[in-house]
Amino acid sequence: MPTSARVVLLPGDGIGPEVASEARLVLEALAPDVEIDERPIGGAAIRATGVPLPDETRDACLASVAVLKGPIGDPEFDAADVRPEQGLLALRGALDAYANLRPAVADGIDVLIVRELVGGLYFGASGVREDGTAFDTCEYTPAQVERVVRRAFRLAQSRRRHLTSVDKANVLETSRLWRRVVDAVAPDYPDVQYEHMLVDNAAMQLATNPEQFDVLVTENMFGDILSDLAAAVTGGLGLAPSASLSDGGPGIFEPVHGSAPDITGHGTANPTAMLRSTALLLEHGLDLPDEARRLSSAIDAALALAPTPDLGGTASTADLGAAVREQLAVDGVAAGTYGE
Ligand code: NAD
Repeated sequence: MPTSARVVLLPGDGIGPEVASEARLVLEALAPDVEIDERPIGGAAIRATGVPLPDETRDACLASVAVLKGPIGDPEFDAADVRPEQGLLALRGALDAYANLRPAVADGIDVLIVRELVGGLYFGASGVREDGTAFDTCEYTPAQVERVVRRAFRLAQSRRRHLTSVDKANVLETSRLWRRVVDAVAPDYPDVQYEHMLVDNAAMQLATNPEQFDVLVTENMFGDILSDLAAAVTGGLGLAPSASLSDGGPGIFEPVHGSAPDITGHGTANPTAMLRSTALLLEHGLDLPDEARRLSSAIDAALALAPTPDLGGTASTADLGAAVREQLAVDGVAAGTYGE
């Protein structure tokens, strides 16, 4: 970890600030030397500055070692031209955080979905023509595909050495490019067994036989949908974290779930996805793998003791956060310096 490391915390909208405050407490406990710089994004930023990603927030993120982000989105802006979600796409683009890692772990299931994050349909030309026709364009360059595929192969090498590349090569030109690139780079990773799978089959396999997967790599929109499916089969959105990594620059660590306007302010949001995102930040952003493991174990133990309503329990956001910090204290992490 660099000395004087600075992490930018973006609490976001809705339940974002509620789960972000729990993440802040565990980060302070596990990485006390890290400076935490809190900034607005999304709806909160639009209200404060008129734009969803203020220059000050973007520049602070660019100068940080890692970004810990809560969910964004607010029904107040549903019909507005300037929307909170634009801030997230702009941030991912500005940091070139192209490799989105979404682990989904449950009994017998341990899948890592690697989703390309800054290309494809979400970044292509789009619009509405005069006759009312709407269009979105999906484009990929070979280099865009290669860097994310190579990262997925390397991640597979550090796991069970199996890679599934998901596409729609029977229909889409971009998918045929994807397949060619995977086949071209695969010989550089002879220890990884790889296969191609069409996205419709991949969805069915994830729902019915998820144990077969180790690392799964795919383009932006397929990954968006498949990773929510994987989250659903491994316990629900409240548990699913993600890491979006660039080459050498700061990564973005954030829960998969949104701002959950339906439960905002109730104090019942499950902070697990945000806390697991904090564990990914410790591991990939701060190079503190031991602390990441400690936090993951503390979350597992706390969830058994203090489940939130989405898991059938009655614990509040703060109760589960406190239980995690108690487990860390049992583990000897900065005992007595938090939880007041
Ligand atoms: P959502 O994920 O906010 O909520 C879906 C359901 O899951 C809701 O019933 C919600 O209460 C529940 N849920 C989500 N997180 C939970 C948690 N931590 N604990 C307990 N229950 C939880 O999805 P949505 O309702 O489709 O979207 C709401 C807003 O979030 C929209 O504005 C959307 O654009 C935004 N969004 C943002 C991100 C992001 O910032 N990365 C991701 C997805 C959606």
